[in-house]
Amino acid sequence: MQLNTLTIKQASSLLAKKEITSIGLTKACLKRIKEVDGKIKACLTVCKKEALVEANIADERRAKGETGELLGIPYLAKDNILTRGVRATAASKILENYIAPYDATIIKKLKQAGAVLLGKTNLDEFAHGASTENSAFGPTHNPWDLTRAPGGSSGGSAAAAAADMCIFALGTDTGGSTRYPASFCGVVGLKPTYGRSSRFGLIAMTSSTDVPGTLTKTVADAAIVLSAMAGVDKNDATTVKSPLPLFVKGGIKGLTIGLPKEYFVDGTDKGVTQAVEKAIEDFKKLGVKFKSVSLPHTKYVVPVYYIITPSEVSSNLGRFDGIKYGLSASPQPSSSKGEGVSDLMSIYTKSRGQGFGSEAKRRIMLGTYALSAGYYDAYYLQAQKVRTKIKQEMDKVLEEVDCLLTPTAPHAAFKIGEQIQDPLKMYLEDIFVAGASLAGLPAISIPGGFDNGLPVGLQLIGKRFDEATLFRVGHNYEQATGWHKKKVEI
Ligand code: GLN
Repeated sequence: MQLNTLTIKQASSLLAKKEITSIGLTKACLKRIKEVDGKIKACLTVCKKEALVEANIADERRAKGETGELLGIPYLAKDNILTRGVRATAASKILENYIAPYDATIIKKLKQAGAVLLGKTNLDEFAHGASTENSAFGPTHNPWDLTRAPGGSSGGSAAAAAADMCIFALGTDTGGSTRYPASFCGVVGLKPTYGRSSRFGLIAMTSSTDVPGTLTKTVADAAIVLSAMAGVDKNDATTVKSPLPLFVKGGIKGLTIGLPKEYFVDGTDKGVTQAVEKAIEDFKKLGVKFKSVSLPHTKYVVPVYYIITPSEVSSNLGRFDGIKYGLSASPQPSSSKGEGVSDLMSIYTKSRGQGFGSEAKRRIMLGTYALSAGYYDAYYLQAQKVRTKIKQEMDKVLEEVDCLLTPTAPHAAFKIGEQIQDPLKMYLEDIFVAGASLAGLPAISIPGGFDNGLPVGLQLIGKRFDEATLFRVGHNYEQATGWHKKKVEI
């Protein structure tokens, strides 16, 4: 048995029966990373020594009678999540040598549950992107086809989970960044409700939509990790006390799923449309009813997202000034010609000029423009008003149905280098995923078949704090179709 291929559920049951150890499981994942990550490039940091120490502690805790589904389970975390004593780069040159001084709340909670941190994964710089090509450290490759992108921005985590380098991985989702790469890599990507788990210790992108999420091999595993991460945190005032349990067993007969007609449009690849149509038939066999619904403000989702996101980004990235964190264009005495970095303003501009990649700079400029005195009302304020409409409309439609079904992405994985020179094209990739982010709703991408050998994802969007229905619907579909069982060959 290849231990690294196990799901959380399978591994924890074997650990409980003492048939395997966390040390054995952790070693199997580290071995797999060593074997394939030279080609995939999912990891930015591997904490081999620390992981083995943590695994040993987990085995001791079990030997003393402690139990728990995450006790001894190895995982990878996206590199914009702080893990104490380990480098946290956010895939930016500006944070290349930044060591996190504390654990994010979600990491602390996973530590308490006994999960074992294997390392940190690649992303688009500061999570800006949908392909992981915006990383300052080079792109991650899709394990289904190494010439293709894994999606983004949590592309390292999605690729690592798909290639069994870990038992699960953490991502963040601001406008699709767990769901979209999950779709490209054939794994499960969860974006919980905004406020379900703490953002404390995440390197902020768009604070009003950022949420920590998961990349797992099954829907049940997503529920396990979310149960451990969820909860109120005094360090994040936007966390909300929310009812558990998160995973409800049982069938889905009699449920009604909404199909928003604006999500079934020209421009989506035939293979994706066919996969969704097939899924609808499969769901019907499980006793689900479908209802056509309408979300007319969908056409504003991408424009609104790309005003609000850069606006918040321009403010959140303000802290990287060459003084407080990371890379600094160090002060030098002025030469006789007055050159050199001798004053504060030049330290700021030089450090930021050298440290940020082109997408981060683009977003800082767009956001600064949208927030500037003369344009604030026309752009930012207007976008916020339309965002409220988008949210109200989605909430209202969700009163009529149990959840919504849509494609996650308009197509399967594209080639590395194919789209990255066209930012607008990249922004349009978010068409199906950014709506749930603006509305703060929970959403999950589950494997829904293949198009020319490449995975296709289905997205389920749920009512606020009703991840349970998404898990139930997703789990039943997954068990009926078995798409998640198909493995990469690498
Ligand atoms: N593609 C989106 C963007 O570039 C998603 C980002 C995210 O969710 N972190 O903004």
